[in-house]
Amino acid sequence: MNNKTTATQNSAKSAAPKKKKITVAIVISVAVLCLCAAAFWFLHPHTFGEWQVIKEPTCVETGKEMRKCFCGENEVRTLDALNSSGHVKVMNKGYSATKTEDGMTDSVSCKLCGEVFVSGEVLYATGSQGLEYKIVSETACEIIGIGTCTDPYVFVPRYIDGYEVIAIAGDAFANCNGITNVTIDDSVKSIGSYAFYGCKGLTSITLGDGIASIDNRAFLECSKLGTITVSSGNTVYKSIGGVLFSNDEKTLVCYPANKPGAYVIPESVVTIGDRVFYNCFGLTDITIGANVESIGYGAFYNCEGLTEVIIPDSVTDLGDYAFANCTNLADVTVSKNITNIGGYSFANCFSLESIEISDKVEVIEDYAFSNCYILKSIKIGGGVTKIAPGAFYNCYELKNITFNGTAAKWKSISFGKRWNSNTPAYTVYCTNGSVSKNGRVTYN
Ligand SMILES: [Zn+2]
Ligand SMILES: [Zn+2]
Repeated sequence: MNNKTTATQNSAKSAAPKKKKITVAIVISVAVLCLCAAAFWFLHPHTFGEWQVIKEPTCVETGKEMRKCFCGENEVRTLDALNSSGHVKVMNKGYSATKTEDGMTDSVSCKLCGEVFVSGEVLYATGSQGLEYKIVSETACEIIGIGTCTDPYVFVPRYIDGYEVIAIAGDAFANCNGITNVTIDDSVKSIGSYAFYGCKGLTSITLGDGIASIDNRAFLECSKLGTITVSSGNTVYKSIGGVLFSNDEKTLVCYPANKPGAYVIPESVVTIGDRVFYNCFGLTDITIGANVESIGYGAFYNCEGLTEVIIPDSVTDLGDYAFANCTNLADVTVSKNITNIGGYSFANCFSLESIEISDKVEVIEDYAFSNCYILKSIKIGGGVTKIAPGAFYNCYELKNITFNGTAAKWKSISFGKRWNSNTPAYTVYCTNGSVSKNGRVTYN
């Protein structure tokens, strides 16, 4: 027993000095390392980077440049003045503004160091003369008419008689057939409804940085308009290939009426705005991207060149008059995800022979298919609860209606006045029988 205890005590006694030794060794090592680092820090030869100018010299004053070591130490040295005999002042001759380009007043600066003594002031482009304007505040005006201006190329300037031009009012240039091109300076923020309505000679329009609001009727009936350009600093709108978009490219805002051929709407587009393709007679084919969710009021009104349209299932909102007067439109595929067929949306589609409306559609709005003279057959989904006045008015050839619901369901639909005026003696084929135009039911 005793022996064992002694042995244990002995080994404990010899372990303690070992631990101490190790600790001391570590402390010494760390101390040495610290000393070395300190020695290096205080004794290192500085390695300076490149000289950098911190004050440019002028003709008459010295400049300064500096370089730094990683330790924070820096060196500064003086740069000589450029010219012991002082600045060499020169007059920079100004130039007048033209109708479309800004000018500049005279300025004085040093030829050697560039120091400016008299700065030049911008002389804004004078723009077209004689435009009619209305003063809207102490400093601003808006254009209300062409006035005495006879320019075919109208340049709307930034200032008229000292007033900043901030808007082009509704109807301002309506029916001004002599205008061929328009450029609008950066001060103008908005263009009102029908501002360029019926400008039959207008081929191009260039919008400035400031434009933030354009009424969707501004360029209606501009039958020769082929290009809409937006200056690159504009943050609200942008032009791609002469077509006007919102700056984020999600909304298609205006397609110039005279841009013939096929068009593929960019994939980025979610909204086709109101009247975008209104009167685009030359549009022969349209590809509506799979991200488009809404088609605005009258979006394709009078697109006589269209023969076929696929409205993808992404579309949930079809505006009134969307495809009205598409007189050659023979083949339409309607999104399965819309709930309303908008009023007059396919009115006067004289070439339409058949159409299919999905079960999600609840309402066929007023005069939706009126004057579809050769519409022979139509499939109507079982979800329809209302067929509004005139919906199939003057569908002279409509003989077959296929309804995806029972005869009783068909008879429970709320039918508006004249919804089927001037249709022939059609039959409605329901899931359990058929219903004649005069309401007689024959069950399967
Ligand atoms: Zn250093
Ligand atoms: Zn100088």
